Amino acid sequence: MKLGTKYIHAGTEPDPSTGAIMTPIYQTSTYVQEAPGVNKGFEYARSQNPTRKALEDAYAQIENGKFGLAFGSGVAATDAVIKLLSPGDEVIAANDMYGGTYRLFTKVFAKYGIRFTYVNTSNLAEVEKAISKQTRLLWIETPTNPLMNITDIAAVAAIAKKNSVWLCVDNTFASPYLQNPLDLGADIVMHSATKYLGGHSDVIQGCLVMNDADLREQLYFIQKSCGAVPGPMDCFLVLRGIKTLHLRMQRHCENGEKVAHFLRNHPKVGRVYWCGFEDHPGYAVASKQMRGFGGMMSFTLKDDSVDNAKRVLSSTRVFALAESLGGVESLINHPASMTHASIPREERIKNGLSDSLIRLSVGVEDAEDLIEDLNRAIG
Ligand SMILES: *Cc1c(COP(=O)(O)O)cnc(C)c1O
Repeated sequence: MKLGTKYIHAGTEPDPSTGAIMTPIYQTSTYVQEAPGVNKGFEYARSQNPTRKALEDAYAQIENGKFGLAFGSGVAATDAVIKLLSPGDEVIAANDMYGGTYRLFTKVFAKYGIRFTYVNTSNLAEVEKAISKQTRLLWIETPTNPLMNITDIAAVAAIAKKNSVWLCVDNTFASPYLQNPLDLGADIVMHSATKYLGGHSDVIQGCLVMNDADLREQLYFIQKSCGAVPGPMDCFLVLRGIKTLHLRMQRHCENGEKVAHFLRNHPKVGRVYWCGFEDHPGYAVASKQMRGFGGMMSFTLKDDSVDNAKRVLSSTRVFALAESLGGVESLINHPASMTHASIPREERIKNGLSDSLIRLSVGVEDAEDLIEDLNRAIG
């Protein structure tokens, strides 16, 4: 089945009691049992909910996995993966990733005795060298946020297999439309569904998708025991969002390409980070593992002062100054003071994330308007 057909039909069957084509929002906390222990597969809504079940099936299908699990946010999904581990276990993670993931690892889990080592995962030798006897999990993000670095998923999956450790890929930036990590050998795919899957900036949610039944059991146990589950209304919104994922992503990719080239040719723009440029260091790997290059990019200005960056950030009219990404509307963001403020400045600079870097989430408006807006703001 082709992607568009799959996204429109994934997880959704006509409602058995009415034939409703859209999965109803089952706004209930519990289910009446016929006799003690005799039920229709639903007992209590923290453990099971029909709207959530439809969405979890959809998650599995769109990532070519067997099992999907929905969580109250992307970070709640990440939290569940780390709860597979025990004190003394070690995680090798990317040194250039979502700030909230870094914060969860360093500020919450490190104090429970789980060790985190950060490496440049684009460099396979560094990943291999960092693995020790205690390593249980490799955590990567590709393309990374916000510098658009690319990691070879198949190659890291091979390293993970060889060392009997799990590989989890945060696939939020690419979305399942552009990249499917399970097909490349990953054990778990994580998404912040808040972004491209929801697609309309109206919901917070996360998910995990996997193939291994035992891993699914462990993660389902954590999901119901810790309770970070999304409500049925939020599940309905993401189910609806997934139906147009292919249409939105096509336009994100087209607009992304136009905006990236506009920026690169602008005399006042310094570097542009977009993985669709042939001279981008990750271009060959990105072309191999992705179906397109998306609408996420970052850039610096030739006048590299923070004040100049702040001036541009405050002068766009179509691009809204906000955190988050992946919605239909274009957003502009200052990683150093917004999305990545939780990473210490020293760490940020070391990883190439300068104080004047500007990140764009290019939306699905008309490209001409987006370019005109940036042109006016850059001045
Ligand atoms: C937003 C985001 C997260 C966290 O997801 P929430 O839904 O905000 O909890 C994780 N990873 C990436 C790449 C993100 O962009």
